[in-house]
Amino acid sequence: MHVVVLGAGVVGVTTAYYLSQLGCRVTVVDRASEVGDGASFANAGQLSYSFTDALAKPAFLSHLPALILGRDDGAQVRLSPGLVAWGMRFVGQCTTRHARENTLAVLKIAMRSARLLTELREELPFDFWHRQAGKLVLLSDQAEIDGAQATVKLKQEHGCDARLLSRAEALSVEPALEHVSEDVAGAVYSGSDEVADSQKFTAGLRDWLEANRSVDFRLSANATKLVASNGQTHAVVVDGDELEADAFVVCTGAWSPALLGTVGINPHVFPVRGYSITLPPGVQAPSVSMTALKYRMVYSRLDGLIRIAGFADFRGFDTSTDGQRTNFLLDLARRYAPLAADYGAEDIRPWGGFRPMTPNGQPRVGPTRSRGLFVNTGHGMLGWTLACATGYDAAQAVAQAH
Ligand SMILES: Cc1cc2nc3c(=O)[nH]c(=O)nc-3n(C[C@H](O)[C@H](O)[C@H](O)COP(=O)(O)OP(=O)(O)OC[C@H]3O[C@@H](n4cnc5c(N)ncnc54)[C@H](O)[C@@H]3O)c2cc1C
Repeated sequence: MHVVVLGAGVVGVTTAYYLSQLGCRVTVVDRASEVGDGASFANAGQLSYSFTDALAKPAFLSHLPALILGRDDGAQVRLSPGLVAWGMRFVGQCTTRHARENTLAVLKIAMRSARLLTELREELPFDFWHRQAGKLVLLSDQAEIDGAQATVKLKQEHGCDARLLSRAEALSVEPALEHVSEDVAGAVYSGSDEVADSQKFTAGLRDWLEANRSVDFRLSANATKLVASNGQTHAVVVDGDELEADAFVVCTGAWSPALLGTVGINPHVFPVRGYSITLPPGVQAPSVSMTALKYRMVYSRLDGLIRIAGFADFRGFDTSTDGQRTNFLLDLARRYAPLAADYGAEDIRPWGGFRPMTPNGQPRVGPTRSRGLFVNTGHGMLGWTLACATGYDAAQAVAQAH
């Protein structure tokens, strides 16, 4: 069976791996000249198997006016018909019941993904800076501790090792916390969480798939249209030519709506811009991955570097404020953890990427109403964390349908 995977981010290339494992002939198409060039390029690298908390929750509703009025430094909003339509679905998910269900659903995918990546690592010979770093989610006040309590309990009931720590306990896990400039009232810690570079993984996996599974990568190749008739997708137009196959898996991340829209399918994915800076470590760089919950800002130690990432801007595909946003991220990171990184270094690498967000925070994986057409998209904040499980599931869905 010939399967075309559209999109060569971490999700597409991982999907190609599992398809090839099932014996499929696989072609991967991406318009970028390298794999892992979209959101997978310089994300925070955290394999956050335990931090699957839904963004859509009741507390978000009281925060909504501040967000729309531009009073949240961590999120910029530019209203558009697309955002309003997506936002209404998102708001519909902001109930206690939905938040619980969505957190749990993503937790289950994440825990499977952890097991699958462990298996994969045994097979793959290349280095992608993988490390079991553990993760601390830093809580700044009692309200955040109260909010975390119920979620931690829920996760523990489902086999997750997340636990609530006092400030002193958090300090013993990560002594560098002593130099954080704001109060750390407590933390959620999960020792099993990992860190690794998703771009290095994606690039290494591409080389391995070409060499070992004869997967064909067509890069600098733009897919403009899916071609369907009688309820079946049978081709995709790539650079003006029809490419036929038995099945197609759309893994084009934040750009999935454009391609799926050509056959009338709306995956309800919205692009949410986030940023990172990669720089040399400071004199008190954390070894454990850290999230400052109050600012939604994360610090990851990746090989000899520190990567700091954060923010969630809802401005469509606008990138005009990237410079301003990465400067602000650098400033905020310096104020919060002044010794974590060498903020004055010359070789600071800024970056921005579009997270493919669904209203409920769950990825869309599996068949569509068009026969032969499958999706693996909408991984939002956690595409690197979830890639192995959703790649596996997408490949299984293709195999089962044929
Ligand atoms: C600042 C930031 C920090 C993050 N931190 C983390 C983290 O710590 N842990 C985590 O798990 N996740 C994190 N994420 C989320 C994660 O990066 C994404 O969920 C994930 O990369 C999505 O992967 P993807 O393959 O679906 O999309 P992408 O990597 O964006 O890949 C989509 C690909 O499709 C291609 N494409 C699009 N349209 C077409 C077309 N028409 N024709 C051909 N090719 C096309 C693009 O060129 C691109 O290569 C973070 C994201 C951001 C922005």
